Amino acid sequence: MIFVVDLDDTVCLTAEYSLNYIVNFIKKNNLPYKQISSNARFAEKNFDWSMEEALAWYKEYGDQMMAEFPCVDYAVEFLQAIHNKNSKTVIATARTTDWHTDPEKITKNWLSENKIPYDKIYFGRADKQQICEEVGADCFIDDDVNIVKKVVDHFASIKKPIKVFLMTSEFNKELECPNGAIRVQSFKDIAKALNIDLEQSRNLN
Ligand SMILES: [Mg+2]
Repeated sequence: MIFVVDLDDTVCLTAEYSLNYIVNFIKKNNLPYKQISSNARFAEKNFDWSMEEALAWYKEYGDQMMAEFPCVDYAVEFLQAIHNKNSKTVIATARTTDWHTDPEKITKNWLSENKIPYDKIYFGRADKQQICEEVGADCFIDDDVNIVKKVVDHFASIKKPIKVFLMTSEFNKELECPNGAIRVQSFKDIAKALNIDLEQSRNLN
């Protein structure tokens, strides 16, 4: 099977970790910014800073923060289990150099430090439905409701089957799961749906 998997808020806890990191950073450095929202999807909307200030902050500290993101529960076990079953993993992440200095290097190091096996990785804002088609994906996992909908609709329009999972996150839990996709709470649910034994993979590693 070929899996296409998103990273931020699917495999790693991006939004939650970023928010705490930035709050602490602002306090520690006595910066003049105030937190104005605790549930906006992107960090630049959580503070009273301008887009330019947010961009400047990310350019300077975003890579450091990104290197520390924790994995969500069972993500590593799941990705190792599918690797052990000879499935292919394609990572599709929207991380780009407009927000980060060196997203490719940091992301690849992060994957290796977290012992996450993968076969291919796409960076940037390419349409994920095109990536899925290009690599012949059997299964797609992402937390973004709009992206999930585009993948479901695209595969319906080209009449190809694909299993699409919407990973529940803090920011999509109130949103409706698009028709044709399956909402899951964790990689454990996906493993169950696909009959993948996570314990066995744990014992192999
Ligand atoms: Mg994401």
